[in-house]
Amino acid sequence: MTTTTNALNLSGAALTPGAQRSWWLREALTEDPGEPCPPLARDVTADVVIVGGGFSGLWTAYFLTERNPNLGIVVLEQDICGSGPSGRNGGFASGWWDDLHGLVTLYGQEAALRACRAIAESIKGIGEFCGQHGIDAWYRSGGYMYAITATAHERLCEDMVKLAREAGAADELRELSAAELKARCSSPAFRGGAYMRDGASVQPARLARGLRRVVLERGVTIHEGTAASRLDGATVITSAGSVRAKHAVLAVNAWGVGWPQLNRHLVAWSSYIVLTSPAPERLREIGWTGGELISDFRTSLRYFRTTPDGRIAFGGGGGRARRTVDDMFTRDTRAVAETAEGFRLMFPTFAEVPIEDAWGGPIDVSPTHLPTFGRAGTSHVYYAAGYTGNGVAPTRIAGEVLADLITGADTDAVRLPMVNARPPAFPPEPLRSWGAMVVRRAMIAKETAEEQGREPGFVVSQLARTPRRMGYLLGPD
Ligand SMILES: Cc1cc2nc3c(=O)[nH]c(=O)nc-3n(C[C@H](O)[C@H](O)[C@H](O)COP(=O)(O)OP(=O)(O)OC[C@H]3O[C@@H](n4cnc5c(N)ncnc54)[C@H](O)[C@@H]3O)c2cc1C
Repeated sequence: MTTTTNALNLSGAALTPGAQRSWWLREALTEDPGEPCPPLARDVTADVVIVGGGFSGLWTAYFLTERNPNLGIVVLEQDICGSGPSGRNGGFASGWWDDLHGLVTLYGQEAALRACRAIAESIKGIGEFCGQHGIDAWYRSGGYMYAITATAHERLCEDMVKLAREAGAADELRELSAAELKARCSSPAFRGGAYMRDGASVQPARLARGLRRVVLERGVTIHEGTAASRLDGATVITSAGSVRAKHAVLAVNAWGVGWPQLNRHLVAWSSYIVLTSPAPERLREIGWTGGELISDFRTSLRYFRTTPDGRIAFGGGGGRARRTVDDMFTRDTRAVAETAEGFRLMFPTFAEVPIEDAWGGPIDVSPTHLPTFGRAGTSHVYYAAGYTGNGVAPTRIAGEVLADLITGADTDAVRLPMVNARPPAFPPEPLRSWGAMVVRRAMIAKETAEEQGREPGFVVSQLARTPRRMGYLLGPD
């Protein structure tokens, strides 16, 4: 029996975030628990050792097997594959046409367009991969809609659409009137917006577990329950053994804040998702039957999508910034309540529909809001990091790039602008995480005030703008 205890209509697992795995992962494990991958218990050798069994690590393993089936590949995962954000995210495989401003600023127009097209191919590639390998990851290509929910966002929307038009990508990203938007999904909060063609939803944990199955079938060795404690050259050391390899890959997402190779370029922020009970009839009432991914324009983004059985998964980036990846990324009941409030605000006709699950996870925020993939200096250590909460489509490219760099393949992928790009560094600790915490709350306060038609206040506005003033491509102008 579920217990419905409060005004937000939270029930069941939504009341105990972090006490169980994400709903996606529980669902995927019920469907296929997969074969066991016992922990590493001795010293071994390999051609490539990959730390992290999420999308980045598993796609890298997959593309390595494509490039050279004879490579000895070992993946080390501290928990189980897909237990991190790859099995907890919103399942938005979305285009980069909305990030043209940042891409053009960093890399120029030609390279920015190449990056956007590569992401478009990656989204299609995920669907094709699922088809080829019999993975039912609920892949659905319904596009991505942006919804304006505050006057302050109107200019953001106009600028975004104009930039795409000027770059010759008017078909990729176009304006939606309020009526057009409401015809696809009717919410009293929506005032118009934009439509991006590149956007597909997936059940992310099914994709992660499907990748795990495929790479195991191809002879990759995976050790779950195996935390890497440090690197010595390309040798990975764990508490019970080591993997001596020619090449090592760090695919640890926000846990990168604990690795010297990555930590100056990352801040860990949390994001939470709430999930309703199935309510297909309510979805039909509001016309949301096309499988579109939707988000608003807040920096502390709200993002939402449907599931085949008629649920809404609603995410909010309203969580907190932290120095290390700790329990606050999974057990934060305040973040769950804030996310649920966002959902109740946007979908009042779902008031009677319980929120029956909720979970959170860490996001690896980069100074540019964009990821980079490459080689750490002149070492044999490679990395993929900085997805900033947008890794479902880019991780597939990361895997391709890292496999090509390791095998020395000269491909279009390794010439993408985010390969071996050098993002600026964040300030050192403890300034970085304290600053991130304060700025994050200021951004949320500013955006909430704007949404409610209030003036955010001088101090809050100035604090929220700090990252831009420091030269980072983060937060409001
Ligand atoms: C709530 C939430 C919603 C999101 N929604 C979206 C979305 O809709 N669309 C989108 O594009 N992106 C989204 N993201 C971001 C997306 O999930 C990530 O960018 C993506 O999954 C990154 O994949 P990854 O393999 O790099 O990281 P992860 O999936 O985090 O994998 C890293 C793995 O490394 C393991 N690990 C860490 N340290 C060690 C160690 N020392 N030893 C061994 N293993 C270690 C971790 O356990 C983890 O499994 C969301 C993230 C969150 C948290």
